[in-house]
Amino acid sequence: MHNKTITELSAGLEAGDFSSVELTQTYLDRIHSLDKQVNSFITVTPEIALEQAKNADAQRAAGNAGLLNGIPLAQKDIFCTKGVRTSCGSKMLDPFVSPYDATTITKFNDSGAVMLGKTNMDEFAMGSSNETSWYGTVKNPWNQETVPGGSSGGSAAAVAARLAPASTGTDTGGSIRQPASFCGITGLKPTYGRVSRYGMIAFASSLDQAGPMTRTAEDAALMLNVMAGHDLRDSTSVDEAVPDYTANLNDSLEGLKVGLPKEFFSEGLNDDVAKVIESAVKEYEKMGAVIKEISLPTSNLAVPTYYIIAPSECSSNLSRMDGVRFGHRCEDPKDLNDLYIRSRGEGFGPEVKRRILVGTYALSEGFYDAYYVKAQKTRRLITNDFNQAFDDVDVIMGPAAPSTAFKIGELTDDPITMYLSDIYTIAVNLAGLPGMSIPAGFVNNMPVGLQLIGKHFAESKLLNVAHQFQKETDWHLKAPESFK
Ligand code: GLN
Repeated sequence: MHNKTITELSAGLEAGDFSSVELTQTYLDRIHSLDKQVNSFITVTPEIALEQAKNADAQRAAGNAGLLNGIPLAQKDIFCTKGVRTSCGSKMLDPFVSPYDATTITKFNDSGAVMLGKTNMDEFAMGSSNETSWYGTVKNPWNQETVPGGSSGGSAAAVAARLAPASTGTDTGGSIRQPASFCGITGLKPTYGRVSRYGMIAFASSLDQAGPMTRTAEDAALMLNVMAGHDLRDSTSVDEAVPDYTANLNDSLEGLKVGLPKEFFSEGLNDDVAKVIESAVKEYEKMGAVIKEISLPTSNLAVPTYYIIAPSECSSNLSRMDGVRFGHRCEDPKDLNDLYIRSRGEGFGPEVKRRILVGTYALSEGFYDAYYVKAQKTRRLITNDFNQAFDDVDVIMGPAAPSTAFKIGELTDDPITMYLSDIYTIAVNLAGLPGMSIPAGFVNNMPVGLQLIGKHFAESKLLNVAHQFQKETDWHLKAPESFK
């Protein structure tokens, strides 16, 4: 049962082959016996899950099955979940039990989905390896000495290890696509504004976007059908009609214009990863796509621009974690200043502190123009590059990450190299575009993801392009040996 996709599970539930309670119990048992090896969950919610499963079965019996009726899912611990700890991977919020649900959670509940629990993540979504989580490193199910990627590493590892059929992630600079690539699953970061950010703990508000992490593009389409939509409670969510994302999955790719940015295939890209990507592109040629080299000349500015904008926004967003309004409070504060200093000093980990310091500096009087304003200008140049490229091509393709999963501990003392693991994903967030990573092959038994980048709101096109690849290849069906 645990190797089935959402599509197959929905068919099984509808045919009465198994109930949601049975299905949910299967996954809870797997989490209980196998998650020790992976550490992909911060909180498992068996009582809620079984209750929801029971309700889902009753709704189906009454002929009221919602879109994801009875399907168990794992939710990234960045989404507020009513009555359940919502830690964001931080000691700061370890005891925080949210009094309300994020819009995404409400939508899943309304669709009849079942929540298995909350997944491990880098602290406040800052990281590329899941090593900054206060709840310990997540291990990559393909090789437990390596990282799963981050920050949605728990969500990616849980799906790869078949501990959940699908999960949610969030992507500020690559946190859905890079872990999807490292764990051999399908991850979609929608257009900025496509999915509500209400109740999703903010890291960098102008970049954060939630999306599905699944085994197949078809499942990602089903998840996005539930997640997407305008929300009056998020002023940055866009009032744009939500299509049925499954409707165009089978469109032909004959004549599809694919752009390969030459900057994505230069120095820094592992040679073997490059070969996997090149053969994936050949597969598209066989399907009738027309391949063209393009240029995104400002690519090299993406990481430095991001590391001004994201820390600036995070320093502002995280100011509410002060031990008074939100978050850990120190013992016996002497006065208010002592309370702030020690609460924040004890509650945040080193990577979060580094970002708050950088962001506070970049926003301070005298430096604001030199850093923040300049970064906003480069952001515009990066967006212009993409817009120009999309005058000529329908989709941009390249690697999702420069390498396969690296060893745990290998980059913890080298933040710059760590930051560079998002070199191909970050510009997509700065431009607000949708992007995907799909399994495209292996290097030394470790998965490699192909990145697909689309025009604003072209999620249907990306899902179509991904689904056609998955009809021709079986990389997305492979499971790590110990979790088959
Ligand atoms: N790895 C990037 C960072 O550390 C992106 C994280 C994310 O997308 N949440 O900021």
